[in-house]
Amino acid sequence: MIQMNCPKGHGAMKQKEIEKIIPFKGLDIAVIEEDYVCPECGLAAGTVESAGKIQQAIAEAYRKKTGLLSGGEIKMLRQNKGMTQEDLAAVMDVGIASIKRWETGAIQSRSMDRVLRRHLSEGPAFDNITGNRRFSIPRILRVALAFKEALGRSILKKATRCFMRPNISGMPTCLP
Ligand SMILES: [Zn+2]
Repeated sequence: MIQMNCPKGHGAMKQKEIEKIIPFKGLDIAVIEEDYVCPECGLAAGTVESAGKIQQAIAEAYRKKTGLLSGGEIKMLRQNKGMTQEDLAAVMDVGIASIKRWETGAIQSRSMDRVLRRHLSEGPAFDNITGNRRFSIPRILRVALAFKEALGRSILKKATRCFMRPNISGMPTCLP
């Protein structure tokens, strides 16, 4: 834990949790802010670390209020499906940096939220008409990675991206 001294020379400041209502995109968001307060003169100071936490808390609360998946929910649903951040980025055809940002607090657009839900929803693993296992790109990528480990070399090109066109069933389209 860091120690902060009062700039007016009163010695160590005390850490204190302060509840604040912060207006954000037209909503009032309640967050707990960790400040350092001087017991002698009452001067309060935030830290860069607490500013980052506040931003994250605002983004989480905003997403809950507006019905978007929160960062924690995205992570939990992804892990429930056995997907890594790389898997999810690949099936959504976005950069892994986007997945990392959404899971740590950046607010996804409404359209990206729909795409996230489509890939993270709890669909049955088996097609209930044919009984076949549903086609899953993450599963294929995991199989490819297992082959890679067994063979000691990659069977996928590094920049290869596979995706499904909604109206074509069967094998994924892979672009070099
Ligand atoms: Zn002071």
